[in-house]
Amino acid sequence: MRIEREVPFAGSFDLVVCGGGPSGIAAAVSASRLGLRTALIEKNHFFGGMGAGGYVVPLSGFFHQGIRVAGGIGWELVQRMLQDGAAQLELPKGHVSFHPEYLKLHAERLLREAGVTLFPDAVLSGCCREDGRITQVLFVQEDGEKAVGGTTFADATGSAVLCRFANAELLPEPEKYQPMSLCFLLEGADVTTPLLGGCIHHDGKTGRSVNAELHAWLAEQPDAPQFGGPWFNALIRGNLLAVNMTRAAGDAADPKVYAATYAGLREDAFRLVELLRKGFPEFRNAQIAAIAPDLGVRETRRMRGLYVLTGRELLDGAHFDDTIAFCAHPIDIHQADGNGQRLAELPAPGPIPLRCLQSANVENLLAAGRAISCDGEAFASLRVMATAFALGEAAGVAAWANGDAQRTRAQLQKQGAIV
Ligand SMILES: Cc1cc2nc3c(=O)[nH]c(=O)nc-3n(C[C@H](O)[C@H](O)[C@H](O)COP(=O)(O)OP(=O)(O)OC[C@H]3O[C@@H](n4cnc5c(N)ncnc54)[C@H](O)[C@@H]3O)c2cc1C
Repeated sequence: MRIEREVPFAGSFDLVVCGGGPSGIAAAVSASRLGLRTALIEKNHFFGGMGAGGYVVPLSGFFHQGIRVAGGIGWELVQRMLQDGAAQLELPKGHVSFHPEYLKLHAERLLREAGVTLFPDAVLSGCCREDGRITQVLFVQEDGEKAVGGTTFADATGSAVLCRFANAELLPEPEKYQPMSLCFLLEGADVTTPLLGGCIHHDGKTGRSVNAELHAWLAEQPDAPQFGGPWFNALIRGNLLAVNMTRAAGDAADPKVYAATYAGLREDAFRLVELLRKGFPEFRNAQIAAIAPDLGVRETRRMRGLYVLTGRELLDGAHFDDTIAFCAHPIDIHQADGNGQRLAELPAPGPIPLRCLQSANVENLLAAGRAISCDGEAFASLRVMATAFALGEAAGVAAWANGDAQRTRAQLQKQGAIV
């Protein structure tokens, strides 16, 4: 069916960023600070992506073996949350625990201060292409569909939504994506005994952050639903914990799968908490305080770029002349159909070339964040939020530098993004 209609035009921009998670925030702020007329389209009415809407805590990937490898806009946000007492830097691993509401607060302040034109509550619904370039993107808000035009477009939706609308080449899908998890906030648990006290921070002093005792116990419960971890993260003050333990395989880019998985994992969250309440005195008074509004989506589609980064290259210490960011997080693969996790530390910070952000077949399309061009192993390191901020910042600067790698690198160094 072909429907022709007039769509109101909401403006013309130098850079249009689609998706307001870590990568989208950093892309929009960096471009706008450099003087580009920048728009940001986000389907939620807040910004922050998985960290804000998915209750994914902590921010990982700023540090490699105690040395900071990512700075710039992501680090600026961390400083703002630290000043508010709403974040905690956990050295030597360098994870940053934080309160999701403060991430929303400071992300929006940063975007407004930078002068970005914001389109919240706006779901990307299509795009127009001419001669191998995107000319406009379409989105739907409560009062109808709108279009914005642009010179460059950045896909920061996490799931390559704009790439799919633009018929950009995608990488082949794996047999199984990493699983989805629905995170939730838990109140009333006793964190003063070693059971939780020993694992709620990722400071490296208490061994692995996953709670091994609870993992072993849950694995023996015949009526336990599929789970991972569990990981408990303090939201700094009081004893409110962000909990990551539900788990389900599937393709989150399929709306039917997404909706069914959200409903199923909400059931699982209540069942898991009930099991813990019965099994451990520390959880006797615990109850779910809130369930994340967004499903935690680890992995979906990725764009094919001018280069496809591999996990092997990260492990072998590759070098690229057009490196625009470094990843620091281990290759971290969560088992889709079980409760396991495979981790491989990077021997050195992993370089990410600008070409991974540049579409192979759509001239003015950049990917930022977890949809960039890489294999599943490299993805399993670079998907964390500090790296997503760094990739977004690089995309914003690359738009300003018209894709020139050396100018992009020099500017990123100047603004402290590459440390
Ligand atoms: C369960 C789980 C645990 C994790 N644990 C950690 C951890 O401990 N530490 C860590 O650093 N990282 C962790 N991650 C990874 C990290 O959260 C993400 O990979 C990261 O947020 C990716 O950033 P992004 O900007 O690419 O995408 P996202 O954060 O996914 O942001 C994408 C944004 O685009 C918007 N969007 C999507 N589609 C549309 C559309 N059609 N129209 C408009 N807007 C749209 C979304 O609403 C969202 O705001 C975890 C992820 C999950 C799921």
